[in-house]
Amino acid sequence: MSNSGAIFLLNDSAAAGAQKDGDLTVSGLDLDVLGQSLHLHIAASGSEARLADIVPIAREICDRVIDMVIEQLSKNGPEITCKKGCCACCRQLILLSVPEAFRLVQEIVSLPMDVREMVIAACRDAAGQVGGKLQEDLAAEGPLNPNAAEAYRQQVSDWFGSDRYQSLEINCPFLSGGLCAIYEQRPLLCRQWLVTGPAAQCEKGGIKTDHAVQMPVNFANVLAELTTKLEGSSREVVPLTGMFDWFSQNEKRYDKTWPAKQLIEQFIIAAKKDNAGFMGQEQTQGRR
Ligand code: SF4
Ligand code: SF4
Repeated sequence: MSNSGAIFLLNDSAAAGAQKDGDLTVSGLDLDVLGQSLHLHIAASGSEARLADIVPIAREICDRVIDMVIEQLSKNGPEITCKKGCCACCRQLILLSVPEAFRLVQEIVSLPMDVREMVIAACRDAAGQVGGKLQEDLAAEGPLNPNAAEAYRQQVSDWFGSDRYQSLEINCPFLSGGLCAIYEQRPLLCRQWLVTGPAAQCEKGGIKTDHAVQMPVNFANVLAELTTKLEGSSREVVPLTGMFDWFSQNEKRYDKTWPAKQLIEQFIIAAKKDNAGFMGQEQTQGRR
């Protein structure tokens, strides 16, 4: 059993016991992982939970799915290139779902003060470099109309969607000596990103999605979907380097709670939907 506050995973026997006692709400989640089934029991206490509280089980389930994918590919698929110390992908733009941004800020804030301040400064430095280049590029595209907020948002989104971020070759602020300093807490996007083919393809802006292993569930999407349903908000992602400034503008959202049971229900709905979407795509397009 893994326990993280109001929401946690149970093994089969603990789930049976908890259901008999009736002091927890236990919900099942069945996922299809490349033809193999993964059955999970997610438990909720009767208390309230924040969006950030769903993140530990999302990470844990994501890791289980990835282990199954790696095992399957090792038997009958292309070889996965990714390994410890290989880190060209740590110069990519890393986007967090809203619950992850809340959770990661919460985890970093609880670090010893000297480490915390170093991390925050590194993030702000990277964000400053990105922001400077973004403004320079947008200014070069022509004068901005301050009243055209939607057009500006689109320009910013196009800039991040292009290869201009990666061309800056800014190391992730958490990359230390070729390793991830927050490996256990790393974003879902980092966890899920596995590629096949030579690692050299990842250098110098060469990361290609057609080399990426397609995951049967995209847990970053799952958390994004859960957030829109619970908050009634539109979909939002948070650049890793900008998460502290974003957090200071969204603290009230961080404090909002829902019954833990409701968070689990939405998590399960979103995970099943994403998994079913992958299965449908696989049937019509074939697995890459
Ligand atoms: S994505 Fe590329 S750079 Fe990152 S670990 Fe895998 S092979 Fe290495
Ligand atoms: S969080 Fe870790 S794994 Fe992700 S980009 Fe940064 S250093 Fe790499």
